[in-house]
Amino acid sequence: MTQASRRHRVVVVGAGFAGLFAIKALRKAPVDITLINGTAYHLFQPLLYQVATGILSEGEVAPPIREVLKRQKNVDVRLGWVQDVDTERKIVSVAGPGIDYTVEYDTLIVAAGASQSYFGNDHFADHAPGMKSIDDALELRARIFGAFEVADLQTDPEAVQRWLTFVVVGAGPTGTELAGQIAELAHRTLPGQYRHIDPRTARIILVDAIGAVLNTFGDHLSAGAQRQLEKLGVEVKLNTKVVGVDSTSIEVEDATGRHRIPSMTKVWAAGVAAPPLARKLAESTGAQTDRAGRVLVEKDTTLAGHPEIFVLGDMMNLAGPDGRPLPGVAQVAIQSGRHAADQISRRLAGKESGQPFKYFDKGSLATISRFSAVASIGKLHMSGFLAWVVWVAVHLFYLVGFKNRVTAVLHWAVSFVGRGRSERVATQQQAFARRAIRAYGDPFERDRAAATESRPQASTTAAEGRPVQNPAETGDQATLDGKAERKPLGVRD
Ligand SMILES: Cc1cc2nc3c(=O)[nH]c(=O)nc-3n(C[C@H](O)[C@H](O)[C@H](O)COP(=O)(O)OP(=O)(O)OC[C@H]3O[C@@H](n4cnc5c(N)ncnc54)[C@H](O)[C@@H]3O)c2cc1C
Repeated sequence: MTQASRRHRVVVVGAGFAGLFAIKALRKAPVDITLINGTAYHLFQPLLYQVATGILSEGEVAPPIREVLKRQKNVDVRLGWVQDVDTERKIVSVAGPGIDYTVEYDTLIVAAGASQSYFGNDHFADHAPGMKSIDDALELRARIFGAFEVADLQTDPEAVQRWLTFVVVGAGPTGTELAGQIAELAHRTLPGQYRHIDPRTARIILVDAIGAVLNTFGDHLSAGAQRQLEKLGVEVKLNTKVVGVDSTSIEVEDATGRHRIPSMTKVWAAGVAAPPLARKLAESTGAQTDRAGRVLVEKDTTLAGHPEIFVLGDMMNLAGPDGRPLPGVAQVAIQSGRHAADQISRRLAGKESGQPFKYFDKGSLATISRFSAVASIGKLHMSGFLAWVVWVAVHLFYLVGFKNRVTAVLHWAVSFVGRGRSERVATQQQAFARRAIRAYGDPFERDRAAATESRPQASTTAAEGRPVQNPAETGDQATLDGKAERKPLGVRD
């Protein structure tokens, strides 16, 4: 096919809010889009904590990308983790499940989100999983409900208390919402269901190194949120730094010194960092990154010297009107996705492009418990029931898929009007798979290694959609030297 006869090729990395909204905005554009995502689903991260606490099923917050985009004919959806970008040849290298491939682009949109940051203490992750993926949420569900089960079997009161102590690290929206929901479980859902323990004796502790809950919401709402949490029975420990985590406890440091809190269930809801792809992209383009690894972009969200590469959403560092980087929230991702799509359409139509991305802040919302939330929308600051109604409406609006909206409403009714939790099941696989994968290795990688020993490595030139036998034909170094970072299928950075 000649340059002139084929359509403009847009490759989108990441089916999060930024990638998906960019693609949807390119629905009618004369482009062929290849979307590459590490999982087969789009993840609505703001409701992950409800999966972890048994309110929603994973399917409700993670619709299949193919279903979401089934009517959009100019998109080809491909599963895999992008490992590297060759900006000279305009090719991305992808590690798919058991197969490597490359994809060519004319315009590249990189929207690979953010990963969990343990602020240099990555070993904390062994005992305090994060809250970034479906795997995280399901493992957490297994740990939370499992803790009550195991506590019920203990005969030593100290062991009972250790199993009934839940520590959530990070008092931002995720940590606050999670702590609130664990407290509701302990005080509303589970009482009366155990014969040997009283779930109401559970301690739920919310820890943060800074001095406020929901600190981005302003002093008034922040203080209100803390009051609501304490009313629910959550112990809020601010100005308290986590200095150690092991399987049976967590060690914190505050103005009075270091303290060890016996606890079997710890959750890490603090800190984000850019995914490894951000570093790779920065290396190959000469772009700068900030301390969290986010890529510094031009005003129109492209990379300096590379107008054909857009970096969007949580991965980008772009200063807002106050000079500080725009926050890592869904609205920044959605609006940056639409902006990139608009820029691409303008260029193809021969119109002037390069307009700066202007973020419109629609406000912030967080729930504390049923019928109780805080909202900061422009000059309007609300807390309590009215804020909760706004929270429900906004989340239903952005939840992808009609069916998911209907079932989410049903499950919210079960949990908030009633006392039940529709999704309490957690399998052994969900509880222990991460450890098993770490010990045994990613099965796809093992198969890949075994296959490489016995025959030439398979690869695919996804630009053509055809498999080729030898990656040397593509010149794809990432597949040749085997040094690329890979993740198990469905497990994010
Ligand atoms: C638990 C939690 C709660 C949150 N609550 C709120 C909230 O209440 N309100 C709010 O506004 N924001 C909230 N956020 C933040 C919000 O979800 C993010 O700002 C938003 O999702 C960013 O969108 P994105 O498209 O940049 O990235 P993401 O939505 O993270 O999507 C990135 C996508 O890229 C894929 N990917 C990553 N690396 C690769 C690779 N190398 N190759 C291929 N694919 C890759 C991932 O699989 C993923 O699908 C929350 C986030 C979390 C984790």
